[in-house]
Amino acid sequence: MQLPDPTRRFVCRHCQRETSHWPIANGQVRDSARPLEGAATSFQTFQVVQCRECRSTTYCIDTSIHPGPMMGDSYTESTLYHPPLPFRLKPVWYNELPEFYRLILDEIYQALDNSIFFLASSGTRTALDILIVEKIGDIGSFKDKIERLFSEGMIDSTERDMLLAVIDAGSASAHRNYRPDDEAMNHMMDILEEIFHKMIIAPGRKQDLAAKAKALRETTPRRKPA
Ligand SMILES: [Zn+2]
Repeated sequence: MQLPDPTRRFVCRHCQRETSHWPIANGQVRDSARPLEGAATSFQTFQVVQCRECRSTTYCIDTSIHPGPMMGDSYTESTLYHPPLPFRLKPVWYNELPEFYRLILDEIYQALDNSIFFLASSGTRTALDILIVEKIGDIGSFKDKIERLFSEGMIDSTERDMLLAVIDAGSASAHRNYRPDDEAMNHMMDILEEIFHKMIIAPGRKQDLAAKAKALRETTPRRKPA
């Protein structure tokens, strides 16, 4: 039986980084011992720990290797968090999106957290389609719709190319058995978030700032005529 290391840091999903934790409970996972090659064995231990900064609790299971008698100390080979740690953080403006969009995007983030990349990837295409149709109506193929966004000045040529790349990757997942790796999946999400920010969040912020500029102008003393 391994005693928990009091200096060990865990990822806190609330603080969204590694922090110091207090041990709350721990023990060996029942029937988890497995023989490995030679005299080595593996076993699993569970831990409930509490973040010293925000006090939220975390449950995780370590898989450890015991090399065998006289072969050195046991070491932790891997740690699984339950529920899994987020694959990526939602952008800070996420809750400003209308619920209508968050319903589908929430499912994409959940799929990402559970490594369900086929669905996450085809989901990005669906989410962008919903966004585009909401803005300009269902006027034909993805290519036509993206061209329309461009010709109406809602996106620039760089954003048009980014959108086409994500839609194409999402279609490949839906139809051609394409599973993006972590890096490609993050690229798709970076672009999806950028497009949502550009089309939904930024216009609202611009209006707010325009109202602030107006208020500012009204309270600024006028320059005396020369
Ligand atoms: Zn914390």
